[in-house]
Amino acid sequence: MAKVKGYPEALENKLRDRRFYGEDTNPEFTKTVKKISDTIAHMCYQCGTCTASCPSAPRSSYRIRKFMRRAVLGFENEALTDPDLWLCTTCYSCTDRCPRDIAPTDVIMAMRNLAFKRDIIPVNFLKTVQAIYTTGHGVPNNDVNRTARKKLGMAADPPTTHSYPEFIPGIQKILDYFKLKANADRIVKEREG
Ligand code: SF4
Ligand code: SF4
Repeated sequence: MAKVKGYPEALENKLRDRRFYGEDTNPEFTKTVKKISDTIAHMCYQCGTCTASCPSAPRSSYRIRKFMRRAVLGFENEALTDPDLWLCTTCYSCTDRCPRDIAPTDVIMAMRNLAFKRDIIPVNFLKTVQAIYTTGHGVPNNDVNRTARKKLGMAADPPTTHSYPEFIPGIQKILDYFKLKANADRIVKEREG
C-alpha cells in the first residue's frame, strides 16, 4: 500500500489493520457509490480484467478489483482511507475492457468525492487545485517546456489560459462555487501549517 504524507494518525493506524470485519460494512456506501458513479458495481464478478488492464497495477500496490469488491460489500472506511485510492490515473482502460460493462473508473471517482467530503485527500491533489485556480493548469507551463516548444517551432505557451489569462476568472468562479479552492487551502494549511 502506498504511503501518503499528511494522513491523520487515526487513519494511519487504521491502515495498519488489513482485516475486514462484518460490522465495518455500510450498505448505504454501496448505494451512494452507485448513485454517484452511475455504474453497476454490484455486477462485478471479480474476474480481474480491470486490474490486468490497469497501468498503475504493475507499478504500485493499487488494485482496482479490490476497490470494486469494497464497493460491492460496502467497506466504506477501507476504501476511503486507503491511499491507493489516489493512484488511479483515470485512463479508463478498465472501463473499456470490463466484460460486465461496469465503469470501475467512475467507481473510483465516486469514492474520491466521498473521501474528499471527509477531508481524506493527499496534499498533492489539493496543490493541483491551487495551481488550477492560479493558472488554469494543474501542471503549469515552465521555462524548460517553453524552450522545448520553441525548438519544435511552436509558440512558447499553448493556446490555453497561458495565452488567454482573461479566462482564468471563469475557472476561479467554478472552483469557488464548489468551494474547492477554499477547502484545498484549509486542508493544506491544517497539514502543513
Ligand atoms: S473487469 Fe469488471 S467484472 Fe472484472 S473485476 Fe473488474 S469490474 Fe469486476
Ligand atoms: S482508469 Fe484507473 S483503475 Fe482503470 S485502468 Fe486506468 S488507472 Fe487503472
